Amino acid sequence: MMDERLTTNFGKPVDNDLNAMTAGEGGPVLIQDVHLVEKLAHFNRERIPERVVHAKGAGAFGYFEVTHDLSGYTCADFLSQVGRRTGVFARFSTVGGEKGSADSERDPRGFAVKFYTAEGNFDMVGNNTPVFFIRDAIKFPDFIHTQKRNPATNLKDPDMFWDFLSLTPESIHQVTILFSDRGTPRNYRQMNGYAGHTFMWYNSRGGHNWAKLHFKTEQGISNFTAEEADRMKGIDPDCATRDLSEAIARGDFPSWRVEVQIMTPEQAKSFRFDPFDVTKVWPHGEFPVRPLGRMVLDRNPENYFADVEQAAFSPGNLVPGFGPSYDKMFQARIFGYHDTHRHRLGPNYHLIPVNSARGVRTSNYQRDGAMRVDGNGGGGPNYWPNTLGGPDPVPSKAIPPIDVTGAADRHAIVLKDSDFAQAGDLYRKVMTDTDRDHLISNIVGHLGKALKRIQLRQAALFWKADPEYGRRVAEGLGLETGEVERLAGMDQEDRVSATS
Ligand code: NDP
Repeated sequence: MMDERLTTNFGKPVDNDLNAMTAGEGGPVLIQDVHLVEKLAHFNRERIPERVVHAKGAGAFGYFEVTHDLSGYTCADFLSQVGRRTGVFARFSTVGGEKGSADSERDPRGFAVKFYTAEGNFDMVGNNTPVFFIRDAIKFPDFIHTQKRNPATNLKDPDMFWDFLSLTPESIHQVTILFSDRGTPRNYRQMNGYAGHTFMWYNSRGGHNWAKLHFKTEQGISNFTAEEADRMKGIDPDCATRDLSEAIARGDFPSWRVEVQIMTPEQAKSFRFDPFDVTKVWPHGEFPVRPLGRMVLDRNPENYFADVEQAAFSPGNLVPGFGPSYDKMFQARIFGYHDTHRHRLGPNYHLIPVNSARGVRTSNYQRDGAMRVDGNGGGGPNYWPNTLGGPDPVPSKAIPPIDVTGAADRHAIVLKDSDFAQAGDLYRKVMTDTDRDHLISNIVGHLGKALKRIQLRQAALFWKADPEYGRRVAEGLGLETGEVERLAGMDQEDRVSATS
């Protein structure tokens, strides 16, 4: 129920909201019009920094329900019992576009879920693709710059886009998914979500395994073709935001099966490639998915800014039973997300209701800071250790120790398997003829706008994934196929010098 009385921010009734107070009928405006000054000053401060990535998004509340008992693998309280329900907030987004950009742009889609568990918030901060373009976060700012705007023209720039990707061969798997029709999902309900990263799952006996979470849409996958996606940018640039909100409003609640792949530490040690490399999937044939639960979104936010714009997810928000793994991107994201939220929302962003833990009291010795709007610890001690009744650490909730060895150095992931094998498998074994036709035409349409030497370098990478794939891209671009084959036969360093 809306309030009937219009007041200032400090509760004083406002007598008139049509006319500013002036000295005389035509006279200058008076600064004593506190309501006018407050209204204009607040308006000037309405915008907060836009997310540097994932700026355009939509979100909804719902629940996660455990359907299968995997409590032998993880002591996570929220997974401890079949039938147990945990409240969630999910946010879906595009990645590269600004806050007003079109929902149907070709882009990975963010797929982030905050689980409000009784042992704190667990955030799954994934995408609609199981892999990523790079596996070391030191490349992340460069990569994102190339997907954004040219610093001189402020235009999206195919040369920047493909120059970087063709210099980054580990991106080929994700590029192949991005340029398939899965790069333009029809809406947020009809796509899968993947944590991508590997979590440590540990149990109450101190044993651990490695785990990958998958969210499979129960609405069925549905994608736009490139033509449909382009058309939709004009017809309804907010089509996915609208679709999610309208479906929930009419009671058609979207849902996802939540599944997990599990790898033992022994399997990880002897696996043929680095299982923590986020540019690769764990093949289903070797690591079958196991059912775990179901997520349903059944409540729209009442206010977009309050709940969606201010929502802040972090891969660092783990709960007992979940730990980080050796995945280098995961490790860096644990820092990066909290840091960006402190910049965007302030150091006390955890007090914003959508971000606050629910059903558990937060209790520590962090104090003060901008917008501290809870009791700030009251008169309790603000240091530890203390003998004044303040909260103590809980050693029984520690992550089990794991081995690390070796020299501190700038190590590259040792490639026991090529960067190209899984992109090739996807092209050859998973895609249908129609998928392949669309993939080639989507790539040709975009890569065709880049410099010829960059086209040659990138076409050679597609060739390395699969010769037919490379040949078809080369033919579509009007490149000399013999030249692309020759470049594909070189190592990356020679290929780069031949095309620079
Ligand atoms: P499987 O045949 O067991 O699985 C293939 C997977 O590919 C399915 O999960 C399917 O998702 C998904 N898929 C289907 N079409 C596309 C597409 N156009 N773009 C991206 N994904 C698609 O094979 P493997 O596990 O042996 O993996 C083979 C390849 O499948 C991988 O190299 C990878 O590219 C892709 N893949 C693998 C996943 C994994 O975790 N193993 C997850 C997603 C993709 P769905 O059933 O939902 O349609």
